[in-house]
Amino acid sequence: MTASFDVAVVGAGIVGLGAALAAVDRGLSVVVIDRASEPSGASVRNFGHLCFTPQDGLAREFALASREIWLRLAADADVWLRESGTVVLARHPDELAVLTEFARSRGSAPAFAHGAGPARPEVELLGAAQVGALVPVAARSAGGAFLPWDLQVNPRQACTALAAYLAGRGVAFRLRTAVTGVRSGSVTTTRGPVSAGTVIVAVNHDIDQLYPEVAERAGIRRCGLDMLRVDAGLRAPLPAPLLTGWSLLRYGAFASLPTAAALGDRLRGEFPELAALDLNQMYTQLPDGSLIVGDTHYRGASVSPFQNEHAFDALLRLTGELFGVPRPRVLERWQGVYASGMSDFLIERPEPGVHLVAATTGIGMTTGLGLSERVVGGVYGSAISVPPTTALSTPVKGFS
Ligand SMILES: Cc1cc2nc3c(=O)[nH]c(=O)nc-3n(C[C@H](O)[C@H](O)[C@H](O)COP(=O)(O)OP(=O)(O)OC[C@H]3O[C@@H](n4cnc5c(N)ncnc54)[C@H](O)[C@@H]3O)c2cc1C
Repeated sequence: MTASFDVAVVGAGIVGLGAALAAVDRGLSVVVIDRASEPSGASVRNFGHLCFTPQDGLAREFALASREIWLRLAADADVWLRESGTVVLARHPDELAVLTEFARSRGSAPAFAHGAGPARPEVELLGAAQVGALVPVAARSAGGAFLPWDLQVNPRQACTALAAYLAGRGVAFRLRTAVTGVRSGSVTTTRGPVSAGTVIVAVNHDIDQLYPEVAERAGIRRCGLDMLRVDAGLRAPLPAPLLTGWSLLRYGAFASLPTAAALGDRLRGEFPELAALDLNQMYTQLPDGSLIVGDTHYRGASVSPFQNEHAFDALLRLTGELFGVPRPRVLERWQGVYASGMSDFLIERPEPGVHLVAATTGIGMTTGLGLSERVVGGVYGSAISVPPTTALSTPVKGFS
């Protein structure tokens, strides 16, 4: 017999789980289907950095919506989250120039503040001594910035906790079940058909397996990243995600500033071997004290699974120099993969009742919940009230 739901979600990463949350918030029956037995995609391989502040355009809209949802999930779904903000370290005057221009561009009316009491500005410029007091870096700094509205989650815990919360609210999970085809009103899986009024396809880069023509039109490729978890022996904890000058070339609202062009020219000229790795030198600290270190970027229709030690060498050397510690002890290495496209998001409706959603640059943890809320809200309208309880969490078999 064909199982029947209002909404079928393909993919149990943060975007798919966000769609399931948006659907269950509207009183709909929902099934989430994933070929994996546990979260193993980009949503568990990232930094857990919810980097709302430097987003612009549509990414900023989704980021603003996501922030509220993440805070709610921390209260209701046992998602580990800290209201950390972000520290951006400027080691050179041209990096401080970008941050100063950014602070000026954001003015004093914080978009993140509603309901949050007295408003802090979105960007607080820091002197060198203030940076040194906040983060245990040894590198000389020209100053930096603090972005107080940003948050941090533990990527290894967030999806599991969210899935358990959704299961507690009646969402069905079909794991170790691959979707092989989608049509209006139905999904074909390796464990039989599922019928659903709405199908949300949230399979990240693997959209090219189910919808190759859409993926080609949107220029979707895979972006591979080299990542490490290390015991760095820092002299003090890292209380917030730490970005560097390299990060100022990546996020939309930094990279689009006129001063970022000169910074890019200098970094590429001074460090061609790091520029060739397409580096974003950044760090987050997990609750156990270990440090997530990254990252590099390489793109293609597929990415080589053979990670070059040269990239890890560079990341470890830079980490030692930045924090003034000997070469950190490596605890884990992994490769992350996400969809990379011509714009920041893929939002398509290839046929009635079928919606394709993906963050097509590396900001899906920051924006994915807001993206999914927008897409589901576009179909079903506003959410009904959400039960404010933590008692509903139920471990999902294979997701605990
Ligand atoms: C190394 C790295 C660091 C990052 N750092 C950050 C960060 O700090 N902050 C930030 O905002 N973003 C970051 N990102 C980006 C972010 O992690 C992604 O944008 C986001 O997790 C994508 O979520 P998703 O749900 O679309 O994809 P995934 O988490 O990859 O989930 C897709 C799911 O679809 C399933 N699937 C695929 N095909 C099928 C099929 N045919 N049938 C059934 N199931 C299928 C897969 O098994 C998978 O579980 C980073 C990404 C990486 C890789």
